[in-house]
Formats: sequence, C-alpha cells, structure tokens
Amino acid sequence: MEKTRLEILKENILKKRDEDHNREGNNHGGDFYPFWVMDFNTRVEVRFLLDKNEENPNGWFVEKKEHRLSINGKNEKIPCMRMFGEKCPICELSEHYYNASKEYAKGTSEHDDLTAKGKYYYRDLRRLTTAFIRIDPIKDSKNNDDSTNTIKVIQFNWSLFNMIQSKVNAMIIDYEQDPFSIHNGYDFFITKTSKSIDGKLVGDYTTSDFSRQSSAISDDIFDKSTLLDLSSFLPSNPGSDKISRMLESHLSGLDYSDDANNDIGDGGLVADDDVDVLTARLKKARAAMPDRTIEPPTSTIDVPREVTTSIDSKEGTPPLEDTKVNIKEDLQKAILDDKDDDEALLNAILNRH
Ligand SMILES: [Zn+2]
Repeated sequence: MEKTRLEILKENILKKRDEDHNREGNNHGGDFYPFWVMDFNTRVEVRFLLDKNEENPNGWFVEKKEHRLSINGKNEKIPCMRMFGEKCPICELSEHYYNASKEYAKGTSEHDDLTAKGKYYYRDLRRLTTAFIRIDPIKDSKNNDDSTNTIKVIQFNWSLFNMIQSKVNAMIIDYEQDPFSIHNGYDFFITKTSKSIDGKLVGDYTTSDFSRQSSAISDDIFDKSTLLDLSSFLPSNPGSDKISRMLESHLSGLDYSDDANNDIGDGGLVADDDVDVLTARLKKARAAMPDRTIEPPTSTIDVPREVTTSIDSKEGTPPLEDTKVNIKEDLQKAILDDKDDDEALLNAILNRH
C-alpha cells in the first residue's frame, strides 16, 4: 500500500529527530551521558548527585529553557530570557497566540493555526542533573568509552524528569531518605523498554525507578574533585537587545547579524547608537514589507502588539506568513518529540489565563 503523505512526513520527522539527538548528545566522551542511545530492554544505573554549585536553589537539577526560531534560514536555539529572570519577548509572543486562540472554538482552523503558532514560539524545557554512572550499558564502538564510575550530566525531557522528581520528593519528604548520599543513597535505574508508534519502535522509560535498597559508593571510585557545576552547562545571558534583534530578524525574514552592538571601537556602541542601529534596521524592514507595520523596538521588542493588529483583523494578510512552513515543521517535530510535554504545557497555558 502506498504511504500517505502524513506517514512519509512522520518518517522524515523521526529521522530528523534521531539526527538531532546524534548531534546533541552522542559525544559519549563528553560531559553528557546520552542514555537514550542504549539498546531496548537495558538500563543504566546512576546515583543522582547534588549540584556542585551550592547556590543552586533546586539542589540537584537546573532548568534549561530555549526557543527554536528559524533565523537566516537556519533553526537556531535561543535562550529564553525568563531563565535569567527577565522579560522574554518570544514567550510573550507565544502567550499572545495562545490567548488569541481562545477566541475561536476548538477544531476550527483559526484555533489550530493560532495554537500552532503559540506552540512554535513556546520555550522548550529540559532539566539537567548530574549523576555518578554506576553501570554503563552503552557500548560506544567508535570511542570505546566507558562512563562507569564517572560523573556525567544527564538531560531529561519534561515527562521523565517529572516522574523522577516526584519519586525524589517522596523519598525526602515521606521517607526521610537521602537519594543523593554517596554512603547510603539510592541508585536510579533508567530503563529503556520499547513501545510502538505507528509501527516504529521508540524508547519508553516509564518503568525507570529507584533501587529499593540504599548502597554505598566506595571512596576509592568516587572522585569528589570531578563534581560538576550545572550552571556551566546552561547558556549564558545574551542580553535582551540581542534576543529582540533575533526575533525581529525571524519575523521580518531579514538577515540577522550578530555584530549590531559590538566589535566597533574598543567599547562597542553606546546606548543611543544602539537605537540608531535598530531604527535603521527597522526602516529597512519596513521598506522591504510595505504592508506591515513595524513599531520601533523597546528594550523588549513590542511584537505582540504588532501581531495583535494583524490577527484581530480577520481579513487581510495573516501575520508571519513567511514563517508558516517552519512553524508546521517544528510543530510536528515537537509533537513527536515531546507529546506528553506539549499537551501538559498547552493545558497549563490555557488554564492559566
Ligand atoms: Zn522565553
């Protein structure tokens, strides 16, 4: 039987996801431990550790929040400014679309279109932990690297991490156990089974669990000096101006250049010059697209308002026409990548307002 276009699309998305994973974390010799590459029906045994950074309010994990936007024709990861306690124009744009979608009944094309855009601009949340690898099942033939008895960073998606976190919380609060202790902590088994999605086997980690018994890690094999500071694995704050420029470039389709406010003279541009540069860029953008209104940017570029105008007038050109293809592509990737996450996040957003 001939494959439907959706089936072909799904195959392509899954293939791309594998490639992304390979690019992101298969460097087995690096600090990240790519547990998802292990074979089905195997498990990696780890001891989660407290962050070396004692200032970390979460103790044993950090949150990495990133947006993915198409800029200069490439899919770029952009740090979410809320990670640094600042306003994030991309999050605001996402919320704007989700709010706007509520004006329409579920199932209508307007609703679907707006939620798709909301999802496109929504930040991707990963949690990073550090762990002492007790037993490493991954046989990396390329580097022949064995992570046993080393400390690694492990990156989790929303659903698996939440499952682990609820177990950790129960141990600490209900049972007064210390899962992180070197001397009498509890190993965690990340177990990979399989489930079939449209005939393709994918990893399932729902049977992962803590050991029922505590155990000691010998001082001979645990090297305290190799503890990792999780903050060093988070992106640094690029500054709200840079984020605004990237978003502006994404929305306008114009080239983004990284040198708008640096590499000039020895001190860079002063604030007034920044405004001039941005104004010039916006003039250029406006000239390129006479039918769109682009407001001069404030420190958090005023995109939501601009887009509101376009959405509210149901006739006329839909906003962000030029990004539609990317939105669909990324949305579908997101759906396959983190189905549970997206549903939960969407519900959270819709219930919040
Ligand atoms: Zn954000």
